[in-house]
Amino acid sequence: MCGIVGYIGGKSASPILLDGLKKLEYRGYDSAGIAVFENNSVEICKTKGRIADLEKKLESEGEFSGCVGIGHTRWATHGAPDDINAHPHKGGNGRITLVHNGIIENYIELKIMLEQKGYKFVSQTDTEVLAHLFDFFYNGDSLEAMSKVMKMVRGSYATAVLIEDRPDEIIAARKDSPLIVGIGENENFLASDIPAVLKYTRDCYLLDDNQIALLTKDTIKLYDINLNEVHKDVYHVTWDVEAAEKGGYDHFMKKEIAEQPKTVRDTLSPRIKDGRVAIDELSLTDEEIKNIGTIHIVACGSAWHVGMAARYIIEKLAQIPCEVDLASEFRYRNPIVRPNDVCIVISQSGETADTLAALREAKSKGAKAVSIVNVVASTIARESDDVIYTMAGPEIAVATTKAFSAQLNVAYLLAIRFAKAKGLIAEQDERKLCEDMLKLPEIIEKLLGMDDFLKGLAKKYVDSENVFFIGRGLDYAISLEGSLKLKEISYIHSEAYAAGELKHGTISLIEEGTPVFAVATQSDLLEKTLGNIKEVKARGAQVIALVGENHNAADEFADDIIRVPEINDILMPSLTVIPLQIFAYYMALGRGCDVDKPRNLAKSVTVE
Ligand code: GLU
Repeated sequence: MCGIVGYIGGKSASPILLDGLKKLEYRGYDSAGIAVFENNSVEICKTKGRIADLEKKLESEGEFSGCVGIGHTRWATHGAPDDINAHPHKGGNGRITLVHNGIIENYIELKIMLEQKGYKFVSQTDTEVLAHLFDFFYNGDSLEAMSKVMKMVRGSYATAVLIEDRPDEIIAARKDSPLIVGIGENENFLASDIPAVLKYTRDCYLLDDNQIALLTKDTIKLYDINLNEVHKDVYHVTWDVEAAEKGGYDHFMKKEIAEQPKTVRDTLSPRIKDGRVAIDELSLTDEEIKNIGTIHIVACGSAWHVGMAARYIIEKLAQIPCEVDLASEFRYRNPIVRPNDVCIVISQSGETADTLAALREAKSKGAKAVSIVNVVASTIARESDDVIYTMAGPEIAVATTKAFSAQLNVAYLLAIRFAKAKGLIAEQDERKLCEDMLKLPEIIEKLLGMDDFLKGLAKKYVDSENVFFIGRGLDYAISLEGSLKLKEISYIHSEAYAAGELKHGTISLIEEGTPVFAVATQSDLLEKTLGNIKEVKARGAQVIALVGENHNAADEFADDIIRVPEINDILMPSLTVIPLQIFAYYMALGRGCDVDKPRNLAKSVTVE
């Protein structure tokens, strides 16, 4: 998890490494460090905390001037986030210096073996094992040492290594953690993600699992684990790094909330042609769709909430049985997946470790894998049979907003596509739905205009200790998302319940003044949800009703009402989520929280 950078060339490495690490900050981290060749030895500066802390430490300890170096941001998995456990780590008697993202699963047995050979460990990390193991295998041939290390370790890694007697090279490798090589002129770069190198080059190699990169300032050579040379196409980046900057907003999250009309439009418009759904990327034929046994939707976090909504939509429109699983559960429960099943995996980063493992599990059982992914050419995208990209652009805030909206709209498209193949949607109904979908960006724009109202609402509830969200059907899926958004950035305890489930236990938690968001937009379930609103009201809850603008049935019970323009019921989640995101944002601000980088969270969860 988190970030790696590397530089080899003619310029001073340290500012380039720091700059690259800052571009990777969005991935979330707890410590940072760099290592640079200074004359003939490798010097390290590392610290827990932010890049700014690292810069301060560098200033006070004396800057580096060497032209070859590696850097790291760490999201601790083994050992506390402190200065010693921060990367880079040394191996041998300082001969090897290494950074690593990921987890070495068999590090304990390797550690015992290395200790018996006399290696001394100073940190609690799994990573240090890699450094000593590399030293153990290194006899003057760095490629051979890397290959042997890779064959011996289990787990996930992106790693970059400096070797004291090879000051003109960086050797790197990956498995289940992203790593790219930036191609420069008389200089080359390494990074976990493209934005870190974009200031210097637009040409990259995207490493695949079990590949090795050997960089000098003038050459890049790629190898497989058996040291056969690999030739890859150059990936030319066409998008702009500007897109990843705040653009006048106080926070990335606010900017990304505001980008949703564009995101939804960009995601839908290439896939609605002449008023009808046409997903060119989907290779499934009508015949294959008709034969789908079960759709397994697998994801984590907010993407899982999209999955919950997708199930309601697909089952309703296309009448295909859907199962929605948390990826971390799916991968270990030996799921029953048949060859005529389809697995839909949803991930913003396309690197989510659990989701990737779930995808592999489903594929190994013969299912076709369709992924909904935001990051182009990410691992999940590359390993899926079909990938439908959400056109959200880089999402920087840890709490997802625009990627969620884009994913949800892809779910609509897929459901309609499936329904069409099965002859379950008449042309005029499809056209009407498409017309409505294309209205969503404009309505979302309108909802963004509720900013002041929602800011006021947040002010009223900012001191709440517990908040509940209830809803049925699609409203339940959005309740889950509204609740997660609130808790992840404001640290207020919040829960989402299927409204009908309340009386089976949770209602005991409702006391005088507890805020309860009641999402009630689904016409066939409205009366039922109203019943549940009355139940919580009777126990003293303060009810905030989120309803279609023409509904006034909740007026007499609700303390506050958020009215959302009405459209086809199945499209309502795309609208109701917007005020919940804005509300969460202002609650977090009101409590002085770091909105873009909530504590303990990372943007791209590349470890399980
Ligand atoms: N497992 C390693 C550690 O805890 C690397 C974590 C990371 O990917 O940042 O140090």
